[in-house]
Amino acid sequence: MPPIQSKVEGRGNGIKTVIVNLNEVARALGRPPTYVLKFFGYELGALTNESQDRYLINGVHEAGELQDSLDGFINKFVLCGSCKNPETEIQIKKGLLQRDCKACGHLSMIDIRHKLSTYILKNPPSDKKGKKKSATATANVVGGGKSIADLAKNDSNGDSANNSFADAGDDDDDILTKKINAEAAALANAKIEVNDDDWAVDMSKEAIEARAKELDNLTLAESDGYTQLGEWLLKESKDSKDDLPSDIDIYKKIMELEILENPETVQVLAQTLFDDDVVEQIDEHLGLLKKLIKGEEESEKAFLGGLERYIGLENQGLIEKVPKILMTVYDKELISEEVILNWGTKVSKKYVAKDISKKVRKAAKPFISWLQEADEESDEE
Ligand SMILES: [Zn+2]
Repeated sequence: MPPIQSKVEGRGNGIKTVIVNLNEVARALGRPPTYVLKFFGYELGALTNESQDRYLINGVHEAGELQDSLDGFINKFVLCGSCKNPETEIQIKKGLLQRDCKACGHLSMIDIRHKLSTYILKNPPSDKKGKKKSATATANVVGGGKSIADLAKNDSNGDSANNSFADAGDDDDDILTKKINAEAAALANAKIEVNDDDWAVDMSKEAIEARAKELDNLTLAESDGYTQLGEWLLKESKDSKDDLPSDIDIYKKIMELEILENPETVQVLAQTLFDDDVVEQIDEHLGLLKKLIKGEEESEKAFLGGLERYIGLENQGLIEKVPKILMTVYDKELISEEVILNWGTKVSKKYVAKDISKKVRKAAKPFISWLQEADEESDEE
C-alpha cells in the first residue's frame, strides 16, 4: 500500500486537505475510497467531501495524522481478526458486518457501533447505486450534535477485531442497550399486532381464576417426561443454579426419558436452567441448547415460549432484560431472526396470559425494532 499523500488547499475557513492518492490507497486495501474518506471524517470529526475523484477533508490534517487514522481503519475494517491477513471482503449478513478472510476463511465481526459501519450498511461494497450516488458531490456533517453512534464511540477505540455483541463486556452492553433503545425510540412505526380473536376477553372473576388455574397447570409441560425432567432440574438447583447437573448429564437424562426430539423439552429447560443471570447462563448451556434446538423452528419457538413463561410467571424482574436476552439468543445463533421477529410482533396466550405476553413483548420492542430496521436495510440492498 502506498503511503498517504496529502496537500493543503485554500485558506481561512475554507482551508481543506486533499488526499491526493486515496484511490490507490483504497484499491490496495480492497475497499471503496469513500469508506476510507468517511472513516477519516468520523475519526477526525471533520467534514468530508468527494467530487470527481477528489477527496477532501475540511481543515488541515498532516499526512502522519491521516496515516495513523488509516491504521485504525485497517485494523477495524480490513485485517482478518484471526490471521491479520489484509485480503478480506466485507460481507453483510442480517444487518451485521463481517470480514471474510481469503487466506484462512475466518469470519471476523466488524464493530457495528462504529459510524462507518452504519454507512457501510447503507452503502454496501458491491452496491452500484451507492457508488453512483457517492460519486456526486456529497458532504456530511460529522462531529456535530450527539448521535446514537456517539454513545458507543468512547469504547470503539482499539482493536475491535473480535468484538461482537456477546463478546462485549458489561459496559459495552449497557452502551449497546442505550443505542438500541435510542434507535427504537426513533422508530415510530413498529407496531405490535394483537390477535384478539384467539382470546375471549371475559374479565369476570371466575374467568380470570380459571385462566390462572389453567396456566398454573401448564407451568411445566404436560407429559410425565417433561415433568420429571423439570422437577429433577429444579430439585438439583434448589439452592443455586450453580448446582445444576452438567450439560452432559442433562442430555443423558433427556435420552433416558425419551424426550430428545420433543420441542417441549427445550421449553422445560428454558424454565428451569436460569435465574437472574440468564444472559450468562444461556452462554454456559449453549452447547446443550444448540444440540437440542438444532435450528428447528418448533424448538426455537418452544425455547422462547419457555423463557417467556419463566420471565412472565416466575421472575418478572427480568422483564427489563428481555432485549438483552433476545440479543444473546440471536447473536449466539440459537434462535433465528425470523422466529424472534415473529414472536416479538405477535401477542400470544400460548405460554402465558395475554396481559403478561403483551408486557414481555413491550419490553422486547427495542430489540425487535432494531432487528426489523436491520432487516429492512439489508432487504434494500
Ligand atoms: Zn484470516
